[in-house]
Amino acid sequence: MSHRDYPTDSEAKQLILEIGRRMYQKNFVAANDGNITCKVDDDIIWATPTGVSKGFMHEDQLVKMYLDGKIIRQGDLGPSSEIKMHLRIYSENPDVRGVTHAHPPVCTSFAIAGISLDKAIYPEALVNLGTVPCIPYETPGSPGIPESIAPYCKGFNAVLLANHGAVSWGKTLMEAFYRLESMEHYATVLMYTGNIIGKANVLDCEQVQELIDIRTKMGISAGGVPPCSPRGTGGEALPMHSPCGDKPAPPPQIKTYQPKSATSDQDGLSQDDISKVRDAVIARLRNL
Ligand SMILES: [Zn+2]
Repeated sequence: MSHRDYPTDSEAKQLILEIGRRMYQKNFVAANDGNITCKVDDDIIWATPTGVSKGFMHEDQLVKMYLDGKIIRQGDLGPSSEIKMHLRIYSENPDVRGVTHAHPPVCTSFAIAGISLDKAIYPEALVNLGTVPCIPYETPGSPGIPESIAPYCKGFNAVLLANHGAVSWGKTLMEAFYRLESMEHYATVLMYTGNIIGKANVLDCEQVQELIDIRTKMGISAGGVPPCSPRGTGGEALPMHSPCGDKPAPPPQIKTYQPKSATSDQDGLSQDDISKVRDAVIARLRNL
């Protein structure tokens, strides 16, 4: 059965090639990393092949396949082993029509640190992307990844794969790619505010609720709800990094968001250590 609102084969293939080029140009992938799929019928997708740079793909290399994994058409190469993860997302959430997977450096750094992207810090990320849980590590290409993604496919629009990279999905392939872009942008802002500037004013709960209402009106039902600051606190920076969890939307177990204090520090530098490093750097600069 075919639906008019699915892209044609030709449209899907052109979009995959274009998004592959953009991923490569934006440094979301290196060498042959990453994979892209686009649904063209209820049970059929086009997918990127294994072992090819996403920046240099040709139309005749793309693979047409059923959602059960059976190949309809392919060139010299089969689909990437990571396509299993895409197939699982499509089967868990029939509204999904496009999936992108890449290793954008800042997202991947958060995934390696085991930190979810769930701060209510700016509206665009919250509305179009939502919060992004970090799910536990599984070997790339193994059945463990589809299994671990499954519980998140309906309630979220993207996940970080611990020690691996990022995956996003949407009602169109373009929406999935924009979410991948938003995720890297959001992760970069989080890195600057949380780890370089050292402060982030978190939206209060009323502001977050307004954004959730806007999101619902836009027809986006997934994305989770980030922790917010109580009204009247002046949007102070809250401690709330959520580590990798194994359940969808777990109540976040809190990690420190601001620079660590000398007393609470267990896995980072204490204020004393930081002062010593700073003094040593200043002393060294004076000698230059
Ligand atoms: Zn990967």
